[in-house]
Amino acid sequence: MFSDIRTKIRGMWTLHSLRARLFIIILVVGAIPGILMRYGIMENYEDHAIQLRTNTVQTQLKILANHLIRYNYLQDNSSEVIGAELDMLSNLYDGRVLIIGGNFKVVKDTYGISEGKTIISEEVIRSFGNVSLSNYDKNHGYIEMTTPITETVKVMKDDGEVEEVVVRGVMLTSISSDSITTTMDILNRKAIILEALMFLVILVIALVLSNVLTKPFAHVTQAINEVKAGYTDETISVPDYSETIHIVDAFNHLLARMKVLDDSRQEFVANVSHELKTPLTSMKVLADSLLADPDAPAEMYREFLSDITAEIDRENQIITDLLALVKMDKKATPMNISSVSINDLTELICKRLRPIARKKDIEVVFESLRPVTAEVDEVKMTLIINNLVENAIKYNVEHGSVKIVLDADHQMFSLEVSDTGIGIPQDSLEHIYERFYRVDKSHSREIGGTGLGLAITKNAILLHRGSITVSSVEGEGTTFLVKIPLTHIAG
Ligand code: ADP
Repeated sequence: MFSDIRTKIRGMWTLHSLRARLFIIILVVGAIPGILMRYGIMENYEDHAIQLRTNTVQTQLKILANHLIRYNYLQDNSSEVIGAELDMLSNLYDGRVLIIGGNFKVVKDTYGISEGKTIISEEVIRSFGNVSLSNYDKNHGYIEMTTPITETVKVMKDDGEVEEVVVRGVMLTSISSDSITTTMDILNRKAIILEALMFLVILVIALVLSNVLTKPFAHVTQAINEVKAGYTDETISVPDYSETIHIVDAFNHLLARMKVLDDSRQEFVANVSHELKTPLTSMKVLADSLLADPDAPAEMYREFLSDITAEIDRENQIITDLLALVKMDKKATPMNISSVSINDLTELICKRLRPIARKKDIEVVFESLRPVTAEVDEVKMTLIINNLVENAIKYNVEHGSVKIVLDADHQMFSLEVSDTGIGIPQDSLEHIYERFYRVDKSHSREIGGTGLGLAITKNAILLHRGSITVSSVEGEGTTFLVKIPLTHIAG
């Protein structure tokens, strides 16, 4: 019981199940935007914060640069005002400021390490060209800036006195970006917590949705199982989705077809029982009447016994026909295909049946328009021709005739069997291929029909992928036309 439930649950949640796929899709589609958004926002925030910090410090450095010129700091670094300003700046931003003079010599280092040294770096040289530079070193957690220390001087040129900006020195500043990184860590942590919460919510939504969306399919399975268990043999209905409507429609069609098959099988069994019982009943009546009359004369015995023999023959015929039909019904029965001369075969059958025809003075004519050799099952082909010609004789009138015409094109051969017999009423034409169907039961019985001949014939023709059609005028005659491919189509 438990293992049953376990396999069921496993079945529902394998990657092949629609529910599992829906669950994964909802989860992925729901969670990915959150993760991307967090990355995007954090990255953006970092750029923005670094830019802001750089701008603020650059502005202060520019003010400081003016003060440096005013206090002539590059020549004399003893100014306490500037010293205090530098201390404040380096404390505020947890940084280091180097003031480099025109000869690339360090005038002041707030760390006091590099004073008097010469610094010729690419940034410093570029900054002497009056450009402010900044560079963020993410790995080491600091921002490096170079700021030119400029002075505006009046110069005499040919066209008079002009103002000119001269770079007197450069400030090389590095400030820590730790505070920005810390803020980012806090933000990131908060975002991750939020994201985890969101993930949980999406997980629940995915679970609920995948269950709700696949429910109709479970309804379909349940409805089909109910039919399978035999609780209902009505048509089922699951109108939840158009997809389930289609599945259920197809199932209902199948159900209807199976019902028809089942009905026809039941009818067939009932017919078989009835047909097999009739000769037995007759035999019993005949035997009983002989037993009831101990003084019955020998002629009566002989007459009744010959009637009993006729009934036994009839019973035998029905059983033979039934066996032929059942054999042909089994689709797996192999076809014994060989090249057969249809001319010779028809000729042979006509020869065999002529003595019966002669009893009613019926002429059997075979007209062959061309020699025909086809790939057929000889036994089944014999059954087809024999049944049609035999019927044409059986349901014929005294001095009538039967005509068989054989023809072929490059694909099919055709066999037309026409008679000048009693004909078949129009409303019976569609039933003559049904098992045990006889137009006139008493007449047919009189001439030894079982009602199975045409059913066998049609089955044998279909096994050859051929067709049979009939036209008939009551009181005038009947024509059957059979068409069969010259080469056998397997399957
Ligand atoms: P049966 O063994 O009774 O002949 P069939 O299946 O061969 O059974 O034929 C079914 C019925 O079709 C026959 O009972 C008969 O009423 C009718 N039938 C078949 N062939 C002919 C024919 N050539 N002319 C008139 N009626 C026919």
